[in-house]
Amino acid sequence: MSLFGEYDSQNIFAAIIRGDAPCYKIYEDDDVLAFLDLFPQAYGHTLVIPKNAKARNLLEVDGDTLAKMMATVQRLTGIIVDELKPDGVQVMQFNGTAGGQTVFHIHMHIVPRWESQGIGAHASGKGDPAELAALQERLVKRIG
Ligand code: AMP
Repeated sequence: MSLFGEYDSQNIFAAIIRGDAPCYKIYEDDDVLAFLDLFPQAYGHTLVIPKNAKARNLLEVDGDTLAKMMATVQRLTGIIVDELKPDGVQVMQFNGTAGGQTVFHIHMHIVPRWESQGIGAHASGKGDPAELAALQERLVKRIG
């Protein structure tokens, strides 16, 4: 998919926002939703998306939405780091297929990283449902 084009309301994150698809939700307010990545690149891999913007990428999202999203990214990154104690954390965002994007609803990745593990570019597979559910419960308790 190109950097430019029509927003597709059938994308999986739009379905999650509508409640038509499940997710391991860890935080939600009027503007933003955060949930665990189903194919985590590392333990604690979290996605943060705006709920009300039909924006595919950084070039399309309005500044107010982006500001709300980033405020949540910063807050959740702090809580995730405090709770999971990684050695580092990546905060990433991809645009267009050539830029590494696979889901065309703008989102930020929060990926905790440990020195003992490499930084893999790709997920190793679907996360274990029991592990994701336990992590969801752990983070929800912290986020409140
Ligand atoms: P990107 O490559 O930046 O577009 O990232 C999309 C991310 O969404 C990838 O890390 C996928 O593992 C993740 N993903 C795809 N489908 C789902 C889903 N149903 N629930 C949670 N994460 C998903």
